[in-house]
Amino acid sequence: MITTLLLALQLGAPPVYDRVILGGHVMDPASNVDAVRNIGLTGSRIAVITTQAIQGRDTIDARGLVVAPGFIDIHAHGQTPETYRFYALDGVTTALELELGTSDVDAWYRERNAGQRINYGVSIGHIKVRMAVMHDAGTRMPVGDGAYRAASPQQIAEIVKGIETGLRQGAVDIGAGFPYTPAATREELLAVFRVAARTKTPVHVHIIPGAAGLKAALALAGETGAPLHVVHINSAGLAETPVMLEMIRDARAHGRDVTTEAYPYDAGMTEIQSATIQDVYKHAPDERLAELEWPRTGERLNRERFDRYTRIGGPLVIHTNTEQMVALAITRGTRAIRAPRAHLRGCWAATSARRMRSR
Ligand SMILES: [Zn+2]
Repeated sequence: MITTLLLALQLGAPPVYDRVILGGHVMDPASNVDAVRNIGLTGSRIAVITTQAIQGRDTIDARGLVVAPGFIDIHAHGQTPETYRFYALDGVTTALELELGTSDVDAWYRERNAGQRINYGVSIGHIKVRMAVMHDAGTRMPVGDGAYRAASPQQIAEIVKGIETGLRQGAVDIGAGFPYTPAATREELLAVFRVAARTKTPVHVHIIPGAAGLKAALALAGETGAPLHVVHINSAGLAETPVMLEMIRDARAHGRDVTTEAYPYDAGMTEIQSATIQDVYKHAPDERLAELEWPRTGERLNRERFDRYTRIGGPLVIHTNTEQMVALAITRGTRAIRAPRAHLRGCWAATSARRMRSR
């Protein structure tokens, strides 16, 4: 990451860098630097990180600020020029949509032509491929057969083919979300995991909530040998998060390729018409429905509002987690994802500047 070029030292004159970043708190996980330093750049490369005074043609005063490598956000649903701008302001230089992904990788990349502010990438998503194969009418999430109809052997073969095609077209990963596709049989999921194992591609899974859901995902990965990444452990785990982190730690200790991530806030968001909401709240009492917020108005829901907004469709905010669980997942979770085997996934998974500042 850091290349030290000994520029012009032989000449005796102190080098003048193209740009210097002075007095910032440098945090670099690759070299373990965690201290106030000056940085000199030659062109676009870091030439020196030093406590010495240095000079540049261009100077950035970074006193009181953190200077870090660009963060890679592996759970970034926003994939527009506008969201890329926000990510950049948050220090994120790579934003990857790996959970939902897409059913058409070629088209997805075509829609984002060159010149975006940051790096981006997408997975081939089981949810999305299943929606296409099952002719689901949902826009973002399945609302019909994509969620609720079991696939025939021929449809499972089509889903597998769609995933293989996506990988050939440059998908970064395979995405999946079991609560969004409740009719997908274990046989179908095993077929997806077998593709992952064969191509050594991690599957990013939004698991069925709770320790039982994690156990099921670990079993799919174990039976097939697929690398598994469990997305947003804190919203999948809620109060069971500590137990689930322990399960992942245990799997890793036994040599399993399993990683996880947590997001740094205690609310979640998804579509009101999706199976993950409908299956849980369709018959829920008002006190459960009050966990849900309709963001367009800020209203908490009750039976009447839930039914009304279900007919309209749109994103919903879910308030089911606690700050305590989030803090726990972030601190323990980051330890897990800093492990050496956690290549692409070993990043600051959605650990935004908010957490950076609070630590
Ligand atoms: Zn999710």
